[in-house]
Amino acid sequence: MSDTDPTTATDDTLRTPIVAVLGHVDHGKTSLLDKIRGSAVTAGESGAITQHIGATAVPLEVISEIAGDLVDPTDFDLPGLLFIDTPGHHSFSTLRSRGGALADIAILVVDVNDGFQPQTLEAIDILKRTQTPFIVAANKIDTVPGWNPNEGQPVQQTMDAQSDRVQSDLNEKLYEIIGELSDNGFSADMYWRVQNFQANIGVVPVSAETSEGIPDLLTVMMGLSQRYMKEEMEIDTSGPGVGTVLEVKDTQGFGTTLDAIIYDGTIRNDDTIVVGGLQGPIITDVRALLRPRPLEEIRTEQEFEQVEQVAAADGVKIAAPDLDDAMAGAPIRVIRDRDRSEVIAEVEAELAEIEVTTQEEGVVIKADTLGSLEALSSTLEEEEIPVMRAEVGAVAPRDVRVAETAGEPTNQAILAFSVEVLDDARDLAEQEGVELFEDDVIYQLVESYDDHVTAIEEAQQ
Ligand code: GDP
Repeated sequence: MSDTDPTTATDDTLRTPIVAVLGHVDHGKTSLLDKIRGSAVTAGESGAITQHIGATAVPLEVISEIAGDLVDPTDFDLPGLLFIDTPGHHSFSTLRSRGGALADIAILVVDVNDGFQPQTLEAIDILKRTQTPFIVAANKIDTVPGWNPNEGQPVQQTMDAQSDRVQSDLNEKLYEIIGELSDNGFSADMYWRVQNFQANIGVVPVSAETSEGIPDLLTVMMGLSQRYMKEEMEIDTSGPGVGTVLEVKDTQGFGTTLDAIIYDGTIRNDDTIVVGGLQGPIITDVRALLRPRPLEEIRTEQEFEQVEQVAAADGVKIAAPDLDDAMAGAPIRVIRDRDRSEVIAEVEAELAEIEVTTQEEGVVIKADTLGSLEALSSTLEEEEIPVMRAEVGAVAPRDVRVAETAGEPTNQAILAFSVEVLDDARDLAEQEGVELFEDDVIYQLVESYDDHVTAIEEAQQ
């Protein structure tokens, strides 16, 4: 066979780095993402920003357009950056990949006025645990009293041009953030003083309101990605696809579908795939690969168009039979010319990698995705709260039945993270005296359970 035979030729390349945005609520994650997307749309030729599932790709040319003199596209061999659309550490932990986090790099957003908050610390823990390189966007610099915006300038220059008082106010806040990072074991500094962004955390002052600092942020992201990717991220874009399920949902006309990110290889519309399911691996044939249509083309209910293939790194909606049991956060692998049982074994191994420790007695935990189940379980383990049953999915009557038999009264509880509680389960829990805790924030969920335990202990004394 010749080297150019498409079935044997490999196509090794650096893949688009996947970027996640994390930080405390209201610190500006969504605004920052919107601003980056907005700047990209303004800077790029129309059509340069393609619609994706779950993520937005910003090509290198567009980044260099936004960043002006800061980014010379010839310095980079990365195709751009792929931003995960849903900010927050919930989606970050959901997005697992083989061996760790799906996101390669992260932006930790910290409101300069508010500093570190509980979810900032939670995000730092997750970034540490997953060894994800990150930079800090010190956001809302425009709210420093007396701030004089100078859009279009590198943020360092704008800062230099402020009055002495504004400069010292802002510096004080920025150094507080640097101090907090150091308290958490990271050596950090203002980004223009950092030489190696993998060894040290760069702090980039930004405003998601005025766009100041966004060119700088993108420049630093590109620099960090370039270094990191070179070492870690060679992929074969023509090989059988590997990905992660973002969401399992109904799509009109297609039944249960998967929103997924493919982070290696290619998925084609005639592939057989293996997907992690509640009862183990699901083997199924792709029926269609769907991508959102460009907005101007959406005239009818036909929101999606079918494509023949999708190459990493990119988002796609997969329609296939038998997906009802698929789990968000689970792996997807294309079989194509590979040995079927080997691929199944890989999916099983990846599922087994998700560490959820259970014991004979303990609480029941339910979560919306594998990653969030893992995150909740590890928080409970740190607090020495035993878990008896851990599962992805809505709280059902059988969960209540299990919780009922959990031993100590403090164990007769269900901690439900970002999942629905079915009505009959709620009724049964009330009837049987099983406590239900529901929240979308892990520390709040655990806090309310802790309060409940304290109340029981006090009542027993
Ligand atoms: P998230 O919860 O972290 O996604 O935060 P949002 O992006 O929703 O922002 C929370 C609030 O802060 C919103 O009212 C935003 O308009 C505001 N905000 C975000 N970034 C900035 C900024 O840089 N400057 C100012 N003045 N307001 C901001």
